[in-house]
Amino acid sequence: MEVVLTADETLMSNHHGKEFLGFGTTSPPNWLPEWLFRYLFFPKIKKVNGQPWQAPYGLRKIEAKLIDAGIDASVVYPDDIANHGAKVLGIYVMDPFGWGPSSTTFAGIMKTGEPYNAKYFELLFKSKAYKKFKEEGGRTIVGGPGVWQFKYNMKFADRYKIDCIYDGEAEKDIVELFHKALNGEKLPRYIEKLPNEAPSLDEIPDIKKPSVNGLVEIGRGCPRGCKFCSVTLRPLRWYPYEKIEKEIKVNVEAGVRGGILHAEDVMLYGVKSVIPDEEKVLKVNELAKKYYDTISWSHASFAAVAAKPKIIEKVAEIICDEKQKWWGAEMGIETGSAELIRKAMPAKAKPFKPEQYPEIVKEAAGVMTDNNLIPACTLITGLPEETEDDVIKTIELIDDLKDFKSLIVPLFFVPMGKLKDKDWFKEHEMNELHRELLIKCLQHDIKWVKIIANEYFQERKRDIFLKPFYALFVKIIEWQGKKKGVLE
Ligand code: SF4
Repeated sequence: MEVVLTADETLMSNHHGKEFLGFGTTSPPNWLPEWLFRYLFFPKIKKVNGQPWQAPYGLRKIEAKLIDAGIDASVVYPDDIANHGAKVLGIYVMDPFGWGPSSTTFAGIMKTGEPYNAKYFELLFKSKAYKKFKEEGGRTIVGGPGVWQFKYNMKFADRYKIDCIYDGEAEKDIVELFHKALNGEKLPRYIEKLPNEAPSLDEIPDIKKPSVNGLVEIGRGCPRGCKFCSVTLRPLRWYPYEKIEKEIKVNVEAGVRGGILHAEDVMLYGVKSVIPDEEKVLKVNELAKKYYDTISWSHASFAAVAAKPKIIEKVAEIICDEKQKWWGAEMGIETGSAELIRKAMPAKAKPFKPEQYPEIVKEAAGVMTDNNLIPACTLITGLPEETEDDVIKTIELIDDLKDFKSLIVPLFFVPMGKLKDKDWFKEHEMNELHRELLIKCLQHDIKWVKIIANEYFQERKRDIFLKPFYALFVKIIEWQGKKKGVLE
């Protein structure tokens, strides 16, 4: 084999087929022993013919691109990188040093060390397999959505002899880069692609082997323009149905029975505006449900749900059946302050006005609860423009959402997108209002996680065995919360 591709062990897992459990990898070590925590949140993915059954979607795209170009490449488990005589290793990263919003928030609150994702990322480079690969003259290229963190930690790249770091959507010129690496040519140390250099739809290959939890992209980019987000800088592209169907078939034929439709806002499938197109959204969901037993969405927006609530009712009729009672999505509430929306997220509320935003969130929450869409929501706190009044408004909104069947996770601001030159928001900068916001979210989540977990772990027989362990984890958090006077 000429090229092997891999990721650390927190990413080479399908989290028991439940994508949301992947959030657990951003937690630092805690009261559960590591072996048990690992088993619960990132068990090793099984191998089929010596290779991982499922692999991160981004790795599968690069694998497909290299194979199409005639390069002998395959995704392997990290233990196996030195077993194939490959000359080049590609490593995919999401949050390599635990500096992403979820990891920094967890670490800041729990104060029990570096998160598991960072720990296991470094373990990959300390492994015997990696050392052997380098001793034999192998070259290392790192890429993926979390690669920006290397800008602040090139010493890590020096320490582990990483040859090249690729920052951006890679399909356009990754083949040329791997050819150079295979030919022993000098590689640029850090490649940073501009948004206008993103690949066109024709340049993005279809995956050839199954992705983690049957995830398939339906599009890339986002029209909403939030200042703290790097996705928004990229052009908006939607995949045609045929392309989506091909990738779903790859997964289903390999035995993957559930899938995730991935886009920054599934409700905006096929449009260049912020008004959902009912026919297109229904058609793409029907397509996925035709093949998969269960489906969920990666992301959606409150504004799009509020703009076309009927679509949610109709999608519920497509998705919810005897095989699944509800579906999930990650959704950014971000703030309850219209003022902050105006300043930092100019198109977040569209087609509504920023001053309508808190009402839109409540309205959409009602629609989702009525139709069995249970989201994991995020809030962003510590934005450079944030005032005390903004935090108060967010606290008020969380109070109003107490009957909203959901999880709400506050995330500290991390410098990205148009705000990439600003400073990180750190735990020591939290004031009383930030603390109150965190406590409100914890209270909301403890209440709902018990109810949601009941439904989450009743679809398959083996989940019944796992359920008590997650219940124990929630109990421990609740006990700690009470001990520290956070929960009543
Ligand atoms: S809506 Fe989400 S993906 Fe789109 S720009 Fe805002 S944060 Fe980024």
